Amino acid sequence: MDKSRRGFIAAMSAAGANPAEGAETPQDHQHQSVPSDISLRVKSLESLLVEKGLVDPATLDAIVDTYEHKIGPRNGAKIVARAWTDAAYKKRLLADATAAIAELGFLPTQGEHMAVLENTQKVHNVVVCTLCSCYPWPVLGLPPVWYKSYAYRSRTVIDPRGVLKEFGLHLPDEIEVRVWDSTAELRYIVLPERPNGTENLSEEALAALVTRNSLIGVENIKAPGPEAKA
Ligand code: FE
Repeated sequence: MDKSRRGFIAAMSAAGANPAEGAETPQDHQHQSVPSDISLRVKSLESLLVEKGLVDPATLDAIVDTYEHKIGPRNGAKIVARAWTDAAYKKRLLADATAAIAELGFLPTQGEHMAVLENTQKVHNVVVCTLCSCYPWPVLGLPPVWYKSYAYRSRTVIDPRGVLKEFGLHLPDEIEVRVWDSTAELRYIVLPERPNGTENLSEEALAALVTRNSLIGVENIKAPGPEAKA
């Protein structure tokens, strides 16, 4: 059976009501794993919508490709690494994040208006959406489950230091913690502090150090070990 996403859906449609058993050959069997129930339901729904001409499969493929390959926290990491290595870019990023992020070619959807919050030795920023789960998709991907949880949304504004401790981030009392409430109109990413010992690293190597959680502000970036490659 064709293992591509589109090929799988086509084979399922041909197989009728029980697509997981459809169009399988003995050679396929050793590589075959039955998708989860929810996955099968989604694929069945998709095949029906396509069959009835209600959605364009090319459009669906483009959307899936975007989420699989074009958005995600590696984009945010590239922005941070650029800001760490290019002072002029960092200045533009802090002054007008939306424009500076667009400079790197990232899609604006669900990130039409962005702000970047710089962590310093005196200030630590953390981002939450108290209302729902607003999140900068182009540069961070889809939000993690905990970001959408009631506990994170409510407790981060009441006791940010306590929440950060639960993420393993123990901030000294002299560091001011600022909590930013993301909305659909304005979304944030944190510009973490560049760790010590990274003076000789390339922009690419620096980007590899940047974690998703550091871009939300629930962790700091650790200094790399001695094996870090330039
Ligand atoms: Fe929201």
